[in-house]
Amino acid sequence: MHIPFYSTERQHQAIGPALQAAMETVLASNRYVLGEQVAAFEAEFAALCQTEHCVGVSNGLDALHLALRALGIGSGDEVIVPAHCFIACVLAVMHTGAKPVLVEPDPATYNLDPSRIAAAVTTRTKAVMAVHLYGRPCPVAEIVQTARRHNLYVIEDTAQAHGAMADGRPSGSWGHLAATSFYPTKNLGALGDGGAVTTNDAELARRMRVLRNYGSAEKYHCETPGFNARLDELQAALLRAKLPHLADWNRQRRQLAAFYLSTLANVPDLTLPPESPDSVWHLFVVRTARRDGLQKHLQQHGIGTLIHYPVPPHLQAACASLGHRPGDFPIAEKIAETCLSLPLYPGLTAEEANYIADTVRQFNFE
Ligand SMILES: *Cc1c(COP(=O)(O)O)cnc(C)c1O
Repeated sequence: MHIPFYSTERQHQAIGPALQAAMETVLASNRYVLGEQVAAFEAEFAALCQTEHCVGVSNGLDALHLALRALGIGSGDEVIVPAHCFIACVLAVMHTGAKPVLVEPDPATYNLDPSRIAAAVTTRTKAVMAVHLYGRPCPVAEIVQTARRHNLYVIEDTAQAHGAMADGRPSGSWGHLAATSFYPTKNLGALGDGGAVTTNDAELARRMRVLRNYGSAEKYHCETPGFNARLDELQAALLRAKLPHLADWNRQRRQLAAFYLSTLANVPDLTLPPESPDSVWHLFVVRTARRDGLQKHLQQHGIGTLIHYPVPPHLQAACASLGHRPGDFPIAEKIAETCLSLPLYPGLTAEEANYIADTVRQFNFE
């Protein structure tokens, strides 16, 4: 059996005609940038997040970067970011000129540990980034509470948590701003790059619209040095065709996760992610001291896996200016050394999931 780590093939086959129709609509519209598809998708995604506003942007990194800029964050400021996260979270802060201050994750959930925020706050701290990693909502209510005590903004990153409920409210509804990505492999993925920012603050939404479009609210009148960071009509139309299926796709992900959790429960020396009724299981990440061996074993049996992420941000060459060394964030480093993501996506069959679980169980973990 050959099972890729991720494939959209079956997902797209099932809704092929709707995707074709979306593309035809945009082709016939003669409008490819900032037209009615983007406006309609923004309204639909805001409804999913139960926020007043949504601003479509070019990708998740730009969403985070411009969200920080909309809050006025820049040189001389500090932003608290999870030490275990995707590099875009750290790069977005660096691109504003502010300093990312990394905070260790909770080793059980891999998400930011809110009890460690206070110790990282200085007089320069302006914001904390609440990333919902692997589809599992982070303790965002507690993060918001802590942020309030220290007078900080909260920026959510929901790139891996489309449709997830976090502490009883949709992910993307908690932060002053919430940034997301529609990279093709996300739970709601475009057929190219895309992103968005949601907020309940009309002024922040206005600033986002200006920042994504050269700094202009009015054509050819530039109020601030902005960017070209727009979601395009074609991606918006495709996302609109896919959005109605998100709940069903997330349900399939939950089913697969529940299967892995029960069938792999008693494998010695294999750490499973804790159960979570709120997770939308963007990734199913297991941990083992013999990670590289397990990955090779699965590869030899035709099963693709990936590591999210093999090098923590503080040890990336791009972050050398932060001055960190190996050992500075032992929890994040340990996760990077031991984590492995198993295939989990809509369209993966029960037979395939069974084969994957069997193949994991055959591995000698000692
Ligand atoms: C994918 C992702 C991003 C970046 O999104 P892009 O659209 O690839 O720029 C940011 N944060 C997290 C948590 C992600 O998973």
